[in-house]
Amino acid sequence: MTTKQFLTGLQRIVGEENVVFHPDDLLVFEYDGSVDRGLPQAVVFPASTDEVSRVIALAHRAGVPVVGRGTGTGLSGGAITPPGGIQVAFPRMNHILEVDTENRIAFVEPGVINLDLDTHVRKMGLRYAPDPSSQRACSLGGNIAENAGGPHCLAYGTTTNHVLGMEVVLEDGSVINLGSLARETVGYDLRGVFTGSEGTFGIATRIAVRLLPVPESVRTFLGIFPDVESACTAVSAVIEHGIVPAALEMIDALTIQAVQNVSDAGYPDDAGAVLLIELEGLQDEVDEIGGEVEAALWETGATQVRTAEAADEREQLWVGRKGALGALGSIAPNYFLVDGVVPRTKLAQVLGQVAEVSRKYNIPIANVFHAGDGNLHPCLLFDERQPGAIQKIVEAGTEVLQVCVDAGGTLTGEHGVGLEKKEQMPLVFSDDDMAAMLLVRQAFAPDNSLNPGKIFPDGKSHTPRAHPFAPGMTV
Ligand SMILES: Cc1cc2nc3c(=O)[nH]c(=O)nc-3n(C[C@H](O)[C@H](O)[C@H](O)COP(=O)(O)OP(=O)(O)OC[C@H]3O[C@@H](n4cnc5c(N)ncnc54)[C@H](O)[C@@H]3O)c2cc1C
Repeated sequence: MTTKQFLTGLQRIVGEENVVFHPDDLLVFEYDGSVDRGLPQAVVFPASTDEVSRVIALAHRAGVPVVGRGTGTGLSGGAITPPGGIQVAFPRMNHILEVDTENRIAFVEPGVINLDLDTHVRKMGLRYAPDPSSQRACSLGGNIAENAGGPHCLAYGTTTNHVLGMEVVLEDGSVINLGSLARETVGYDLRGVFTGSEGTFGIATRIAVRLLPVPESVRTFLGIFPDVESACTAVSAVIEHGIVPAALEMIDALTIQAVQNVSDAGYPDDAGAVLLIELEGLQDEVDEIGGEVEAALWETGATQVRTAEAADEREQLWVGRKGALGALGSIAPNYFLVDGVVPRTKLAQVLGQVAEVSRKYNIPIANVFHAGDGNLHPCLLFDERQPGAIQKIVEAGTEVLQVCVDAGGTLTGEHGVGLEKKEQMPLVFSDDDMAAMLLVRQAFAPDNSLNPGKIFPDGKSHTPRAHPFAPGMTV
């Protein structure tokens, strides 16, 4: 099949206007939120499972790799397309199909934006708990592929704890259903295996998610600390009280500076760290535990503690945290976010070692992270236009991951392995471990034509920016 025949075949399935292959139009699909780049041969916008199935079957026959694309907010290069591959994207499959309020289940298409689902079901007294900080932009399809977390996943668990089932198109175009709407499933938990498979097993086209009731009371605490060490002590103190907050987030001094550069979040100039803690539950419970949290913050050295219960006031306290990554743009044009996880008790020690890496490479590192989960997000700040900059931050990022692993942690808490961390997989997995994982992939995608080149080491990370007129782009 020639490239022209292939593209015409795609157009016949989804309509001419729903296949993009002009180099100028493709540029926005060249990247995600990571540092990797790869220009697809074409991007297809299907409107139904049937169209997805036919597109994927055609690509399979043509030997063309397929990458599912949500909204491209991924931070591990997951949606980056290998040479000659196409993307299947879901702006036309972005409908909330049904909300079953009695059984607290929503049925959605993969292109639904995370926050749109939550906003929609809140009108019915329900919520969708997993809330990545990117929730205004990221899609449910991308969330499932990455098993996304978020500030409130400390208490409620990550995406996998909220997905009941999904319809999936496999690499040959066949359509299967995983999971069940019943509380218990029979046989292998393939729904669980699929969640977090980073688009390598299949393309999710319809998803059933669990909804939770909106809690009676929510209270947010913002603690200002003179340094990261005392804020880390506060994290341990809160958890030692047996409290599981809905969220427990930390922002360090450099991030505070960035946040204050772009808007006044009310953080003092001399703040060394900020902790955000949110409690949810029955009013009496929140009152009682709230007192303990506040006491723990003062006892561990907070210089200020602010609390809010009304929705708009709580929103004010969250402003700095939610805008933190974007605010880093006021310090440097690019960031490379390392998604390491460490035992909570090692937070202070590991942050000290991260600061050493920063000094060694002369790279500013800002930290804004899910402290309650021990999920660090050191953001290495750089300018990709400087010669050798990418290589330097990748080296420094690898050293940060090594620090996390040495502390008993692991490579990723929520952003996935993708392209970015695949070469580091041997830090935590043996050859036999990875061989077992590959056998699972083989069961779903024996020809490895869905999102190939991700997760497993092959020496090909960090693809250079592709030239817009690369071979294969001339049709
Ligand atoms: C500012 C910022 C803050 C963030 N905060 C968080 C956070 O708090 N927690 C967190 O977990 N992540 C966070 N992220 C990372 C990112 O938003 C998540 O990984 C998100 O789940 C990606 O969704 P997406 O729609 O953008 O997917 P994309 O980036 O488009 O794709 C991600 C992966 O999903 C696959 N995929 C997409 N759709 C499908 C589908 N239908 N079927 C199968 N595979 C598919 C792709 O092939 C790719 O491998 C953040 C990112 C940014 C930029």
